[in-house]
Amino acid sequence: MTSDPINDSHCHFFSPAFFSALGRQRGGDAQDASRICRELEWEDPGTPDALADRWARELDAHGVGRAALIASVPGDEDSVASAVRRHPGRFVGFFMLDPSAADAPERVRRSLTERSLRAMCLFPAMHRVPLDDDRTLRAVEAAAAAGGVVFVHCGFLSIGVRRRLGLPSPFDLRLGDPLALSRLALAFPRVPFIVPHFGAGPFREALMAADACPNVHFDTSSSNGWIRYQPGLTLDAVFQTALAVLGPSRLIFGTDSSFFPRGWQRPVFDLQTAILERIGVSQEDRALVLGGNFERLFPGKES
Ligand SMILES: [Zn+2]
Repeated sequence: MTSDPINDSHCHFFSPAFFSALGRQRGGDAQDASRICRELEWEDPGTPDALADRWARELDAHGVGRAALIASVPGDEDSVASAVRRHPGRFVGFFMLDPSAADAPERVRRSLTERSLRAMCLFPAMHRVPLDDDRTLRAVEAAAAAGGVVFVHCGFLSIGVRRRLGLPSPFDLRLGDPLALSRLALAFPRVPFIVPHFGAGPFREALMAADACPNVHFDTSSSNGWIRYQPGLTLDAVFQTALAVLGPSRLIFGTDSSFFPRGWQRPVFDLQTAILERIGVSQEDRALVLGGNFERLFPGKES
């Protein structure tokens, strides 16, 4: 029953540079990764290579084939690139981009070519750059030219680690409108777009965007706590509706796993596979959602 390959399209790579960047954002003296991890009671990632090995062992332990690792702060592309170099058959590299950075298009180009990363991640609410802003368009153009995938966080955005560290998060949630994304996705019809967490709140608008744009995909990741914004909505109904509108080829399994020792979020997998079973999804469609669509979007470069 679980013999189909499982790939996880949404894991965060919390590297030493990630923690150091958060430390710097908090100000004060140079706060190294170990110190922040002690404060959070999380495992110190050590080096990017050690963290890559930790992830590979974790995937092995859960029978997961491949995973997308997201560099979760702008400028941390090198950490994920080294993880991908170390385990090219297991990891696909994503990176967070702030399109307001002066060198954003060049950074995108280098990440997708020289660093062999595969997807650029935009967080318009966090970086406060609208999806129809020229800076966003330039970044997506660069991603398109390099054959990259574009991940766009829409809807509600809250970053647990920022809250835990007392970092301010003045996000402008208006900018995560899936209808604005649909305009962007229509302008780049050959670029695959991934919207995490089924749109993370504005579900109807996310469905409309995906219906209008055959290049828009949803990832299923996280506990999808946003469903509480819509009275009576269940995750079963979310899966059922998404499958009815997008079809089985545009829904991509993910967990939103991030730190250790918690590791890979098996409860997300268990819940979502139970839902697929309950709503009567065929074995063939289930295989696409759990692994096949990931392989199509991110074909392995290793034999
Ligand atoms: Zn995430």
